[in-house]
Amino acid sequence: MKPPVIIILSESSVAIAQQIQVALPNAMVYGLAGRVQSVDVSYTKFGDTVRDLFSNGTPIVGICAAGILIRSLAPLLTDKRAEPPVIAVAEDGSAVVPLLGGLTGANELASTIAHALEIKAAITATGQLRFNVVLEAPPPGYRLTNPDHAKAFTSDLIAGATVKLIGDAPWLSQSNLPFRADGTHTIEVTDRPIAGSATHLVYQPMPVQGKLAIVGTGPGAAEWMSPETRALLQAATDLVGYKTYLDLVGTFAQGKRHESDNRVELDRARHALDLAAEGRSVVVVSSGDPGIYAMASAVFEVLDREAKPAWEALEIHVAPGISAMQAAAAAIGAPLGHDFCAISLSDILKPWSVIEQRIALAAQADFVLAFYNPVSKQRTWQLDRAKEILLHWRSPATPVVLARNLGRSGQSINVKPLADLTSTDADMRTVILIGSSKTRLIERSDGGVWVYTPRHYGG
Ligand code: SAH
Repeated sequence: MKPPVIIILSESSVAIAQQIQVALPNAMVYGLAGRVQSVDVSYTKFGDTVRDLFSNGTPIVGICAAGILIRSLAPLLTDKRAEPPVIAVAEDGSAVVPLLGGLTGANELASTIAHALEIKAAITATGQLRFNVVLEAPPPGYRLTNPDHAKAFTSDLIAGATVKLIGDAPWLSQSNLPFRADGTHTIEVTDRPIAGSATHLVYQPMPVQGKLAIVGTGPGAAEWMSPETRALLQAATDLVGYKTYLDLVGTFAQGKRHESDNRVELDRARHALDLAAEGRSVVVVSSGDPGIYAMASAVFEVLDREAKPAWEALEIHVAPGISAMQAAAAAIGAPLGHDFCAISLSDILKPWSVIEQRIALAAQADFVLAFYNPVSKQRTWQLDRAKEILLHWRSPATPVVLARNLGRSGQSINVKPLADLTSTDADMRTVILIGSSKTRLIERSDGGVWVYTPRHYGG
């Protein structure tokens, strides 16, 4: 279901709208321009606005008379299976009436709103009331193969018919349907292709289609977040990531937050996959680019190793972001203008011997190097050792760029010769670029420098 829109006509409805928003944190409040302030979106024409929302499948909660909604939407009522929920809420919060969309969750939405307002929803759908289930609209994970028979079947039950259940589904066995071993009618839950009838409803279990996107916020500032990432964040029902990153995207995203300070990335990845397998739209939030020393590979690693059947049908999407080394390079000129490589100096996930070997080989190959995770509170000697190795192959005058807190408050970019690099120059918020033998400095009139690596390798 898309996030609902709460639409109001006057300032006096703002309080009720906000009370409803607590129960529906994804919902936006639309207010009539000129009459209502402090809303998410202002509109000018009520009728056109609700018709537009209805046509694009957005659930509508109108804090207004039911009649206004009915009159506005009447010309559009053609397909009850496709229409979104439309709910009228009395301006004083004393009544909640689901008007349309009984098959797409209106009764459940009305009950959620009623609960928030501490009243009872005015549910008028007899099947829902009597049996606590809408046979025509099974929950995600099930498909009714003969929906045209559902209406007559429900009417028969209301008139006193009983049901035999073949197979099982919790939403059916926990309902108030009149189950009897010798029921006059049958409900069957099966994978087999059985033809239903007016006295035999057949439900097929379906894999729930959920979505998992892995996004990167860029190194810090909001303007480095791609429009695709913003759109994914806005549409997410659930957000998974470190608190710091979730705080950073808080203004774009209203989904449920699953904060973690958990350093075990694989656990976080598994949690995200499990949420998506429940049919949710989950976004895993990393900093920088999500595929560079970040969550995307953790997700694929868990997917590959554990291969749960429930994850098979998931839509997985990785949205690229700006990585710290790109932002660092842009801030100082163009040091990555020729061949380069990235090495994480963290020996938590790989042995230090491998890191030393890579630094030595990259230095011999005359790559520009980007060092991620250069120094932490626990890892203090690694950068000094890296410098020692580099000095076997590189001149002590090689330019080194130290970029800290890029795009965040306290951003600093310093350039110094390799000979002067020490581990106190860096921390976990620093990315370091080590020039190749071709990397050059240009003195600037303001006292600063540009650093660049030429495209041409000759002479
Ligand atoms: N996925 C991230 C990298 C995560 S590893 C990316 O693509 O940028 C974490 C390391 O990235 C940090 O230790 C630091 O070296 C670097 N980093 C991340 N954000 C940074 C920032 N805003 N400024 C400087 N370095 C940053």
